[in-house]
Amino acid sequence: MTTAAIIVAAGRGIRAGGDIPKQWQTLGDRTVAAHAMARFAAHPAVSQLVLVVHPDDIDTSLWPRSPAATVVAGGATRAASVRAGLTAVKTDIDRVLIHDAARPLVSEALIDRVLDALDSTGAAAPAIAVTDTLWLGATGHVQAVQPRENLYRAQTPQGFLLAPLLAAYAASTGQETDDVAVARAAGLDVAIVPGDEDNIKITSPGDFARAARLLRPDMDIRCGNGYDVHRFGPGDHLWLCGVQIPHTRSLQGHSDADVGMHAVTDAIYGALGKGDIGQHFPPSDPQWKGAASHIFLEHAVGLATSEGFGISNVDCTLVCETPKIGPHHDAMKAVMAAYMGLESARISVKATTSEKLGFTGREEGIAAIATVTLVKP
Ligand code: MG
Repeated sequence: MTTAAIIVAAGRGIRAGGDIPKQWQTLGDRTVAAHAMARFAAHPAVSQLVLVVHPDDIDTSLWPRSPAATVVAGGATRAASVRAGLTAVKTDIDRVLIHDAARPLVSEALIDRVLDALDSTGAAAPAIAVTDTLWLGATGHVQAVQPRENLYRAQTPQGFLLAPLLAAYAASTGQETDDVAVARAAGLDVAIVPGDEDNIKITSPGDFARAARLLRPDMDIRCGNGYDVHRFGPGDHLWLCGVQIPHTRSLQGHSDADVGMHAVTDAIYGALGKGDIGQHFPPSDPQWKGAASHIFLEHAVGLATSEGFGISNVDCTLVCETPKIGPHHDAMKAVMAAYMGLESARISVKATTSEKLGFTGREEGIAAIATVTLVKP
């Protein structure tokens, strides 16, 4: 079965506000109509796109040149516009989907539902059962409650086998409000398939903001932890979170042994699911002997950035009896912030002793644990 999609964009859309019809207004990175067209162009079953525009728009730059479509001028009514669109459908097409250009969020799943039902009944359209109470009102007052049983809110795309739809349009009086009405007037049975609440029709100015919210991908938030230990050995200073601190001993390690920075770096790799420092900078590789640990941290930050993540916050705890961390706390935050391209308010460095217990309590070494949060907006 071959399928064409007719995107009806011939309305003037004045209720939505703006200087140009709503279908040509921008929503995110493209126009409303271009979103709708792209959804059908991306559907594997659709082989032809027909765009029906208002006669006044056909010589303008308003309508999108991509994705490729056969562009035709519509008529004075929706039925006349669809009729114009049908004349542009290729002769080898079996099925047509007729869609409002003002519905930019139509999903592949919804198109599938319409096509599946159309294949068994010859005509199908999506709709949502009315669940709100319906009132009959006049001059701002409720006059009566209307029964809502068997009532549906109709959506598009409405799908038909091409040949019977052409026959229905040939017999149409031109008074019908949509394609389903034309089809039914010709005796066609139209199946209802479940619609989609996100398949909104942009009608009023607030609908642009709603559609923009629905287009926004879900935020990707990752959390990672890191843990590291380095032992004390002879020396007169050590490095902690990028700050050189005079001390009676040094931390031992292949690099500069900055245990805090290593824990933070591993937390970033962890959040990304990209291994650890040892994997990216093998201790067996002599080029990293005595290396400054900010090289590792900057690599991890770069990896996060290249995957579209920003670092939301960092929390690092150093576990040691000595040296005292308090006097160096502000400098550590500032240095870490500079290496990570963050404001220092997003970085926490804190310290605790282990109450003289264990290897840190016996001052055999220093441990560090770190947590980071990465966010892809
Ligand atoms: Mg280490």
